[in-house]
Amino acid sequence: MLTPRQTLPTRVTIDTEAQQFQIHWADGHETTFPLDGLRKACPCANCQGHGNQQLPDPALFDEPADRTWTDVQAERAGSIGLRLTWDDGHDTGIYSWERLRRMCPDDPRPKSAD
Ligand SMILES: [Zn+2]
Repeated sequence: MLTPRQTLPTRVTIDTEAQQFQIHWADGHETTFPLDGLRKACPCANCQGHGNQQLPDPALFDEPADRTWTDVQAERAGSIGLRLTWDDGHDTGIYSWERLRRMCPDDPRPKSAD
């Protein structure tokens, strides 16, 4: 189980120069995703298929990027998380804070069965 502080973001940075998306969390942890990997991990039904809420393989974030993202916009989706709009026009992915934290490449995966 994640604690509330582990899923509470204090700062979100999108750096198109570095092609990175970074979240600072209330527990002091920092999570960095490559933009291309985060795009491929889009949780929406179009990208992942209906009913597939599994987390992506962490190896996804080590893969070389297929393209450069020059315009990525983040918008709060209530208290749930972030809605990201990509410059390929895709904007249906809502990345929950919990999912983002659980996808963190630097965190050991919780060994739960879900
Ligand atoms: Zn999607």
